[in-house]
Amino acid sequence: MSLDLSLVPCQHLSGVGPRLAERLAHLGIHSVQDLLFHLPFRYQDKTHLISIAMIAPGDHVVIEGEIVTVSKPTGGRTKLLCRLEDATGRIYLRFFYLNNQQIKTLKSGEKLRCYGEVRLGMYGLEMIHPEYLFVTHEMMIPVEENLTPIYPTTEGLSQRTFRKLINQALQLLHNGNSLQDILPKEILQKLTFPTLSEALSFVHNPPSDAPMTLLSEKKHHSQKRLVFEELLAHRLSLLNLKNLFQVQQAVPLPKTHELTTRFLQSLSFQLTAAQKKVSEEIQNDLCRAHPMLRLVQGDVGSGKTVVAALAALQAIGQGCQAAVLAPTELLVEQHHTIFKKWFEPLGIQVVVLTGQTKTTLRRETLNAIKTGQAQIIIGTHAIFQKEIEFPKLALIIVDEQHRFGVQQRALLREKGVYNNYYPHQLIMTATPIPRTLAMSVYADLDCSIIDELPPGRTPVITRVIPNDRREEVLIRIRDACQLGRQAYWVCTLIEESEALQCQAAEDTAATLHAALPGLKVALLHGRMKSSEKEQVMQSFKKGDIHLLVATTVIEVGVDVPKASLMVIENAERLGLAQLHQLRGRVGRGAIESHCLLLYQSPIAQFAKERLAVMRETTDGFKIAQRDLELRGPGEVLGTKQTGDISLRIADLLRDSDLFPLVQQAANILLKDYQEIIDPLIKRWLGNGEKYGRV
Ligand code: ADP
Ligand code: MG
Repeated sequence: MSLDLSLVPCQHLSGVGPRLAERLAHLGIHSVQDLLFHLPFRYQDKTHLISIAMIAPGDHVVIEGEIVTVSKPTGGRTKLLCRLEDATGRIYLRFFYLNNQQIKTLKSGEKLRCYGEVRLGMYGLEMIHPEYLFVTHEMMIPVEENLTPIYPTTEGLSQRTFRKLINQALQLLHNGNSLQDILPKEILQKLTFPTLSEALSFVHNPPSDAPMTLLSEKKHHSQKRLVFEELLAHRLSLLNLKNLFQVQQAVPLPKTHELTTRFLQSLSFQLTAAQKKVSEEIQNDLCRAHPMLRLVQGDVGSGKTVVAALAALQAIGQGCQAAVLAPTELLVEQHHTIFKKWFEPLGIQVVVLTGQTKTTLRRETLNAIKTGQAQIIIGTHAIFQKEIEFPKLALIIVDEQHRFGVQQRALLREKGVYNNYYPHQLIMTATPIPRTLAMSVYADLDCSIIDELPPGRTPVITRVIPNDRREEVLIRIRDACQLGRQAYWVCTLIEESEALQCQAAEDTAATLHAALPGLKVALLHGRMKSSEKEQVMQSFKKGDIHLLVATTVIEVGVDVPKASLMVIENAERLGLAQLHQLRGRVGRGAIESHCLLLYQSPIAQFAKERLAVMRETTDGFKIAQRDLELRGPGEVLGTKQTGDISLRIADLLRDSDLFPLVQQAANILLKDYQEIIDPLIKRWLGNGEKYGRV
């Protein structure tokens, strides 16, 4: 009987007991299918025996020869140095970790087969800590027939074990058991992809003449076949989500002209063309009886808040509520202040709700929300706790979305459902995402871009400075502040612990306070009480504080136009996107602004290049593209920890050439092959828990 390998647990294979099964489960491997989809991340070529005369530094090769001399160098890490010779030449084998037994057996006269990387050492060619086998004159050991796959693994799970298990799995596959080739022939043939089973056999056991470089870069046809399938599954799952969402009901929110006009007249500026265009797109969405799901991308300082306010007015104008969600308390406070200033003169009730809101006030606020008196609610995601009822919530605005993932998006949407009416959703992000990437990660959203900054901004001048020139930096701060300017000093720390970060900021503030007599230095960090933070921000805004020492809590959204100098310590530790966000806190007014990136020298070439990007451009899209190239999409999107777009084998950057094909194929499947969409998604994303079912 043939088995469906997606249903066969790994324990079915010989040698897999509960302990091993548990270790496999750690790597997300439960079924034989999972095992087959666990792909090598590199390969070794042990298929040829090479004469020593033919090898060069940098090669990874198999050689064979006789140990001629053995020495135990004193000092240094080397435990044993053996000279190995074959008929054509000689090489040294340098060992670092050997037990006594091993030392005893490695003696002159023994014949060895070794595999390792060749380097140029003190005495000529060397192999550092090679893998080795003893060869006897009577028994020949054959070289490997195939390239040797190396798997990503975890402690207690050796490469040998992996290879054995995967070979068993391949056997099962070849013996007529099934791993459904889900993709229709129409698509496979057009792209000239191999079948699933061919692709899997190839990547796990590439023949000796397989192209190593292509394989190592994961660009071989067989690998692409699998990557393609995974990307397709992701896209379809997001489109599914979108389709499901689009047939749901929402309260239509046509624009109330009178309210909007009064609001626009009260502003001290005109909207930019880009702000107008994006607002119109939102306006049109909101008029529909189905929920909007729109992402607004706009670089730091492009003026997203006004666009959000205009959307909120459409909800409020129809007698509904709008909620604004921000990732930090600081940002919530700031939005609260600005929305109060904008909306209260229009007779709109603005409330704020965070985890720190005190009991009595909290009760009042909850009541105001429940009765519908509160028309706009600003908060952290504490807003969406169970006990809170939003009878008239028609619009959710999520600011600085890069902190929220697909999953949270789905959850939010669920929270706002009332009588089967779904809220409209507006998501705003300052992390510009290159178009191709956005297409695949946000396939469930419609996108708008604010591609213009308000007029009158002077670009920030950025300099990269080693830490040992701190004195000069202090002088610059002193001079700037004496001219009535204000500055930020941002402390970063590599430690994950927030407590340590705050401590470091406290220490720095004390040092700067001592070093800069006559200047008002204040401190801002995540562990301070809300009220304290707010007070500090207010004084800074008013100009009572010269220098604000802060942790990266000020990263998102903080808006103090008069601040024109920013120092970022240990800038080399931060990602470009984060530096861009931080730098966006200055250059908000008409004064020429400066950003000084301090680094701890010596600094790696790689890190230097990254900081140079910051000096060269202030264009968020360019920075994002470079960041993506340098660090990969997981980091850039800030979703690495949440595992939100955890792809098994695809890589959004490396495989971006497949996106157009994936898009086409997705359309074909949606049109003609509805029945295979679910199995495909299930294979790559599990049972759909991940993206939340709507
Ligand atoms: P972000 O897109 O980073 O959230 P904000 O909405 O905080 O940007 O806007 C940044 C600053 O620019 C604010 O001080 C805001 O009042 C101002 N601003 C927004 N739109 C305009 C405009 N059209 N003209 C002039 N200033 C504007
Ligand atoms: Mg903002």
